Amino acid sequence: MPDYKTIKVKVKCCACGGSLENSENINFICLMKEAVWEHPCWGNILLRLWPPCFASAIVCDKCLRENKKVKFALEWNLDLSVVKYHTVEDLKDVPKEIFKPLDELEPGRHRIGG
Ligand SMILES: [Zn+2]
Repeated sequence: MPDYKTIKVKVKCCACGGSLENSENINFICLMKEAVWEHPCWGNILLRLWPPCFASAIVCDKCLRENKKVKFALEWNLDLSVVKYHTVEDLKDVPKEIFKPLDELEPGRHRIGG
């Protein structure tokens, strides 16, 4: 279980760059980009793929509400200290074909955003 208080202190919003301390929620965004690092990343459990794993970002409530564009993907250590904010445009796109198995499992449910 991630330690939400630590995240709020250590991580900045990946859209506006502001603090998360005044944000009620920690909003994880799954990016359709390949992560070139290990933590945090997503996709490996559902899709049983490793590598690649996929980049994610955290945004504040305000940016989520206003649907702000995510500028950075997050890389952190296991102690949740940020290693690097990666520029989203610099990362490789995830090939959409990899989501096919999920669509076959539950047709129409797993739409691909972004
Ligand atoms: Zn923000």
